[in-house]
Order: sequence, then structure tokens, then C-alpha cells
Amino acid sequence: RTRSSEELIRAEAPVLAHNYHPLPVVVARAEGSWVEDVEGRRYLDMLAGYSALNFGHRHPALTEAAHRQLDEVTLTSRAFHHDRLAGFAEGLARLTGLDMVLPMNTGAEAVESAVKVARKWAYEVKGVAPDRATIVVADGNFHGRTTTIVSFSTDESARAGFGPFTPGFRVVPYNDLAALEAAVDETTAAVLIEPIQGEAGVLIPDDGYLTGVRELTRRAGCLFIADEIQSGLGRTGRTLAVDHEAVLPDVLLLGKALGGGIVPVSAVVARREVLGVLRPGEHGSTFGGNPLAAAVGSAVVDLLATGEFQRRAAELGGVLDRELASLVGSGVTAYRSRGLWAGVDVDPAVGTGRQISERLLAEGVLVKDTHGSTIRLAPPLTITEEELLSALAVLRKVLA
Ligand code: PLP
Repeated sequence: RTRSSEELIRAEAPVLAHNYHPLPVVVARAEGSWVEDVEGRRYLDMLAGYSALNFGHRHPALTEAAHRQLDEVTLTSRAFHHDRLAGFAEGLARLTGLDMVLPMNTGAEAVESAVKVARKWAYEVKGVAPDRATIVVADGNFHGRTTTIVSFSTDESARAGFGPFTPGFRVVPYNDLAALEAAVDETTAAVLIEPIQGEAGVLIPDDGYLTGVRELTRRAGCLFIADEIQSGLGRTGRTLAVDHEAVLPDVLLLGKALGGGIVPVSAVVARREVLGVLRPGEHGSTFGGNPLAAAVGSAVVDLLATGEFQRRAAELGGVLDRELASLVGSGVTAYRSRGLWAGVDVDPAVGTGRQISERLLAEGVLVKDTHGSTIRLAPPLTITEEELLSALAVLRKVLA
């Protein structure tokens, strides 16, 4: 006999680390914008794996690429070449307008890799004194969970109890060019920011901020690293969030949707002068750029090259924005949206973010709260207008 949702949830507690507090739903199947639990109840997925499922669950082009590759070769390690890697890197370079790719697996690994590359670039190209390189980051950032990355988090729950931390980071307020200018000096290897802060609640900087960061870093002779792991690959209505200001960073970090929701795939994509500092033996990953990852990643790049998903995100983003605007004052205190991505601040009088998420779950809509009173909406870019409107109607109902 297979176990019920309730039994499965209870069975997790003694054997799984308690580093998450999931909503009480046990997913067993999924397709497109929908997931189904063990008992066959259906839910509209308005989180889409925090943007890892930009193309929906099990997009046919992506599962086909994965199935095809499973029958050829899945892993070689980088000790050998394989026949899918060149095409993946060429596609990603073409899509982003940059030169070179360092394939990794998770988002945090891409960030870690970029920190190493930026430091090495600072010593070898910029001429920073040994071990003096600094990286400037923004407060409220979220770049992952490794020791070095939480070293420059400003979220106490991400840091407390995990020290000692990696030195060499300076934190400035987000969306503040003057503070950034004051923090950058001759030791600065890079400025690392999210073009839109996702985990912080979809915080969108003022128009001109990204252009300002680009100009400032160019003037200061340091790298601009844009973490587009959550914001990139169609989510905001453009291929990249930096495209809204037509800005090209020196280094782009991609992850989540790059693996099509099938396998973990991340990448550091950069100018040749930057990634060129890595030589054999200095960095790597057993699974980074493996044939299965490269096959799925290439299929993702092909989907994005059509422009269809960016277009959908922009068009349906207009619907999302309009609907959310009409909720302000009716259970919503404020919201921010770009493309099919929104942070919705719930009026504490109607409940916490968690309570609203649980009420939505009971009504068949999946979302997740962040920072107490904010709900993040990031549906698959394949969602239909009817599905989107029905989810927002449910949101209106549970806020009433
Ligand atoms: N960077 C950003 C902007 C993210 O949103 C995330 C994950 O939410 C990460 C990095 C870390 O990615 P991963 O969880 O794959 O390590």
C-alpha cells in the first residue's frame, strides 16, 4: 500500500533535516502549470520552483532532450570531452552576448565560482595586492547557502551559528549608487548584485540603477557580476533582467531554469578576459557540464532563442500587474512586479504570509511566503491567461 500525504509528511520528520518548513502538500505528479498530490488533488503552481520551472513541469521539448540523452551518454566527467558541451556553451554565449562559459550545477556553485574568478582576475589582470581583493555586495542579498556566500548575507538566520566567515566582502545598501561609489576602491575586484532581489521580496531598483552600476564599475576598473539565477531566462519579460536597461555585465550567473526543472545546471558566463584566468586544475566539478545537463541546457537555450517565453512573460505580466494593482487596499499593502514575477505584501490584518499561503493551498494554488508578510508569485511562463486569472481570483478571495 502506498502511503497517504499525511503519513508521508509524518515520516519525514525523524529522517530529514529540518532546514525547511514546507507547506503541507505532497506532490506526486506534474504537468505544465499543474501539480497533483498523492490523493489526486490538483494545484496550480504559482511558484514554479522559484523560477527553476520557467517552462512549466515536464515541457515536452525538455523531457525529450533528456530522454534522448539518457540513451546516449549521461556522464563523462571533464577528464574527457563529450559531444554536447561545445553546442551548449556556444548557445549560451550567443543568447547572452558574452564569450565564455564555466558550467557548474547549483546556483550557489556558480556564485562561489564567480567569487574565485573575480579574485583571480583582480590579482592577475587588475594588479590588486595579494589577498587584498574585495567584492562589494548589496544588503538584503540572496546568493545561496555556502559558507562563503552566507559570509556576506545580511539575514541573521542565514548566518547565526555558521561562523567563522570568509573575509573580503563589503556590504552597501541596495539601489544606492552613491553608497556603491563610496565602497569601491583600488582593491575592488567586483560588484556582485541581483538586478532584481528575488528572495528579498522581488525588490526592483530604480530605473538607471543598473546603468549606473555598469558605468561605475567600468570607471573603477572592476567587474560587474549580475546574479540572474532567479531573475534571468525569461522571467521578467526579457531574456535577462539587465536587458530592461540594455546593460551587459562582465559576468552573468545563471542557474535554476537553465536545467529546465529536470537537472541542476548553472553557469558563469563572462567575457574571455575574465574566465580566461582559469587554467587546468584550478577549478572544476565532477558533474558540471555533464552530457545530460548540457543536452537539457541546450534545449532550454533553444526555447529561449525563439523569444516566445519572454514575449509571454511580458504580455501576461501586464495582466498580473493590473490585477495586483486592483488588490492594493483590499488585503494587499503594496506589490512589485516585472514580467511574470511579483512580490505581494499582505496586510497583516488579513494574516501572515504563511497563513495566506496555507489558505491558497486549501483552494488549490501553490505559492510561498518570504520575509513574514510577502508572497512571491512566479508562475511558469507557459501559464495561460485563464489559469493566471483563476489563481489571482483565488488570491482575491482568500484576502477578502
Ligand atoms: N542566487 C539567487 C539570486 C537565487 O535566487 C538563488 C536561489 O534561490 C541562488 C543564487 C542559489 O541557488 P541554489 O539554490 O541553486 O544554490
